[in-house]
Amino acid sequence: MRVLLIGGGGREHALAGALAASPRLSKLSAAPGNAGIANVAECVPLDSSDHRAVIDFCRKEAIDLVVVGPEGPLVAGLVDRLKEAKICAFGPSAAAAQLEGSKVFTKALCAEENIPTAGYEAFSDRESALAYVEKHAMPVVVKADGLAAGKGVTIATTPAEARKAVEAIFAEDGAQVVIEEHLVGEEASFFVLCDGKTARPLTTAQDFKRAYDGDEGPNTGGMGAYSPAPVMDVATQARTMREIVEPTLAAMAKRDMPFCGVLYAGLMITADGPKLIEYNVRFGDPECQVLMMRLESDLLALLDAAVAGRLDRTSLAWRKEPALTVVMAAKGYPGVYEKGSTIRGLEEAAAVEGATVFHAGTRHVDGEIVAAGGRVLNVGAIGADLSQARKRAYEAVGRIDWPEGFCRSDIGEAASRRG
Ligand code: AMP
Repeated sequence: MRVLLIGGGGREHALAGALAASPRLSKLSAAPGNAGIANVAECVPLDSSDHRAVIDFCRKEAIDLVVVGPEGPLVAGLVDRLKEAKICAFGPSAAAAQLEGSKVFTKALCAEENIPTAGYEAFSDRESALAYVEKHAMPVVVKADGLAAGKGVTIATTPAEARKAVEAIFAEDGAQVVIEEHLVGEEASFFVLCDGKTARPLTTAQDFKRAYDGDEGPNTGGMGAYSPAPVMDVATQARTMREIVEPTLAAMAKRDMPFCGVLYAGLMITADGPKLIEYNVRFGDPECQVLMMRLESDLLALLDAAVAGRLDRTSLAWRKEPALTVVMAAKGYPGVYEKGSTIRGLEEAAAVEGATVFHAGTRHVDGEIVAAGGRVLNVGAIGADLSQARKRAYEAVGRIDWPEGFCRSDIGEAASRRG
């Protein structure tokens, strides 16, 4: 198969590696890719928001399957346009991608279908939102509707903080805000592969959203992850499928927007069981990196089966050993940071037993690898237990020579101590 992968982050490097390992693959192209993806794919400077250009490329290159990594092109309807052009594409339609693209849509769906989630109110005018904040007990969680790359959420412990968050959201025209109950428990991510009819649970992960150690600092796209998530035991996974995922997929099919793609449920495991925090409609980044380190099955066969509606007949196997990844970001991320610094020691890092280095924002310049984004590398490892995976990952991090970068030093620390 000739495959085009859309995206150029760490998630796409992990997907590219797994796709390249498939005996079914004859050629892999990536748009735009990055310096790591370039080792396993031909990187092409295609703009994924130019749907016409993507379609023309697929026709010229006789692409059999397009795999869309990030949420932006999904919400913008790239998969719909490709399907209209009779090009197979893995990922949800724009209508189904509303599960991630619109919190208002998802909260209303949960309310109608009795899916456990935080209680909420949605507002499209500033005054009503502010009035609600005044009379509601703190803490509350204030969220902007629409895609915010994990950065549009405020957990407000005082009315003043809540007011500030509401004002910031309504600074934009046509904004909508969701104000919800603050859930207490342990967070986990649960991934499910769907073909519109059949849902196959993949596996679980835990991620680290805050920029600095001890969950301090601003929210980011994600600073590290490990898989599996011990809190998601077999019973909790089954309950999540029954109470959250299956009712969602049935509701989407009933609304004529069947979901095909990866459904990523961000969950809070509360004293009353799993509750949905949010859906994403694609693999997480960096969760995808730890998933791909553990996937034994042929990723291309799985994605192809999902597109063809044959997921009920595919096998799925995971390595039992846990995997952990540490994100290395440019100093200043998620705020202002510089690009262009040189990164060395990548081969030495990858030589650590069990380690894998995935590139995110990197470029080749004059034979060297340079930083070209906020999140730049994912340095991870698999191990006999989480503690070994963690030790190996940080040993590999220590071999990277990039003074302009930083990473958290506590990814998976608490969980490895628990055993
Ligand atoms: P989201 O972008 O919706 O995933 O939110 C980002 C982060 O905010 C989540 O990963 C949680 O840590 C936190 N969060 C969001 N909603 C809630 C909630 N209702 N209760 C507690 N924490 C939340």
